[in-house]
Amino acid sequence: MKYVVVSGGVLSGLGKGVTASSIGVLLKSAGLRVTSIKIDPYLNSDAGTMSPFEHGEVFVLDDGGEVDLDLGNYERFLDINLGKDNNLTTGKIYSKVIEAERRGDYLGKTVQVIPHVTDAVQEWIEDVAHQPADGSDEIPDACIIELGGTVGDIESSPYIEALRQFQFRVGRENVTFVHVSLVPVMGPVGEQKTKPTQHTVKELRGLGITPDILVCRSTAPLANETREKLAAFCHVSPQAVMSTHDVPNIYHVPLMLQEQGLCDILGVDCHATNLLKDWKVMAHHLDTLTKEVHIAMVGKYTDLSDAYLSVIKSLQHAAMAVDRKLIIDWIEASHLESDWEHEEEKIAAWDLLKQADGVLVPGGFGDRGVEGKIAAANYARTSNTPYLGICLGLQVATIEFCRNVLGFEGANSTEFDENAPTAAVVFMPEISKTHLGGTMRLGARPTLWQVDDCKIKQLYGDGDAVDERHRHRYEVNPDLIEQIEAAGLVYVGKDETGQRCEIFELDGHPYYVGVQYHPEFKSRPGRPSPPFLGLLKASTGQL
Ligand code: GLN
Repeated sequence: MKYVVVSGGVLSGLGKGVTASSIGVLLKSAGLRVTSIKIDPYLNSDAGTMSPFEHGEVFVLDDGGEVDLDLGNYERFLDINLGKDNNLTTGKIYSKVIEAERRGDYLGKTVQVIPHVTDAVQEWIEDVAHQPADGSDEIPDACIIELGGTVGDIESSPYIEALRQFQFRVGRENVTFVHVSLVPVMGPVGEQKTKPTQHTVKELRGLGITPDILVCRSTAPLANETREKLAAFCHVSPQAVMSTHDVPNIYHVPLMLQEQGLCDILGVDCHATNLLKDWKVMAHHLDTLTKEVHIAMVGKYTDLSDAYLSVIKSLQHAAMAVDRKLIIDWIEASHLESDWEHEEEKIAAWDLLKQADGVLVPGGFGDRGVEGKIAAANYARTSNTPYLGICLGLQVATIEFCRNVLGFEGANSTEFDENAPTAAVVFMPEISKTHLGGTMRLGARPTLWQVDDCKIKQLYGDGDAVDERHRHRYEVNPDLIEQIEAAGLVYVGKDETGQRCEIFELDGHPYYVGVQYHPEFKSRPGRPSPPFLGLLKASTGQL
């Protein structure tokens, strides 16, 4: 097993996750089986309880793990399926150590960060790295380990120490340390400044880890003299100083690293497979798209695109498949509400919605903006505008249909109005509480087709079942299904009990589809998720 440890310095948001996934792509292009582990030094057990405001989206895995969005990057870049153990948090590791202490595993000993926590971290990494991730039973050849946070943070120091020891545990020749840093540009001539990188490497070396490779985030390619200076001050060879400068799209990153000789430094032949050729085609294709498609995203974290990262990626994958340049028009859902007091914002929001080629209402929790989402679903339904509702987006469309087609005034979800005269969406009665602390239905669950002749089934292609990932507590009220369906909104996919509504499609509409699951977690570049592909096809007249 070869390990690549990716740490970060200076500041967060340098694209450490993308860098780490890109290195994974290079290893994969050499024919290796690659897996990854993301270490998040926070005390939460998982990302499930974190606000998108602070941490971006919560990514959901097949096994129901609610994890950091970087795991989504790994799954998309490497086309693998990870499990919850691939996201190591301080909450998880401490729970494990404390459990062992209670069991008496350390009887007679004082349980300490070093060696007990650091040992547990190393065992965890070694164990998880050996779990198959690519759908085969084969043990991976290489594991990318990304250390979240910035070197020097108090909470990440036990992990640095664990990783320092780890190089001796598995053999120094089996570990490569990559440090991602920032090279800012200052002054009128645009001088590339190396001091922040010098400092962060000094800090890392002070903790006992000497990076083998430096990856420097910069606006323009690193000048030779910058590279040499960094090499001299940071104790790496000049060839091992990589620049990740601004590029038109993310698919260029593995290619850019390969062009700078990263594969030689890693000692692999990146042309052993055709993978990089495919990436080149993809990167170029995205650069050359000019004809636009406008998708209105009606959400509540519209200032924060990380909150919908996988949805954005899925739209991108689908837009590439229909040869269009994707323009996302962000609409703050509450601005669409009739009683929104800022008239100009309301007009602007409605203008954007009406100009869009398609409408997407993503998942969400809490009642802020719900009426606006219902209004968006109503607009899309009545104007024949293509619509995709995901999770909450399926629920609001159902509420809208109950109110305006069936005439159930005040129909709502009991999440937002416990005393709604018509409970269109209800708390799932049979849900069990899990040790994740949540009360949600999480992870991969099968959806069975109820109807053969529908657009969404054709989009999914052959197969009796759809296997997608879930994260919800509420569902369409089973008591209303018959009435809703009789009026034309048909639940064409249900769970294996035949009770739970998973997919709807509206009769006679160009594309009005809602899904209770989150298809965005399984979309891949070159293999767009079917509901998204349907939305983009319908929005561009290609369905
Ligand atoms: N809040 C809704 C529920 O819990 C929708 C969840 C979601 O969109 N992920 O069912």
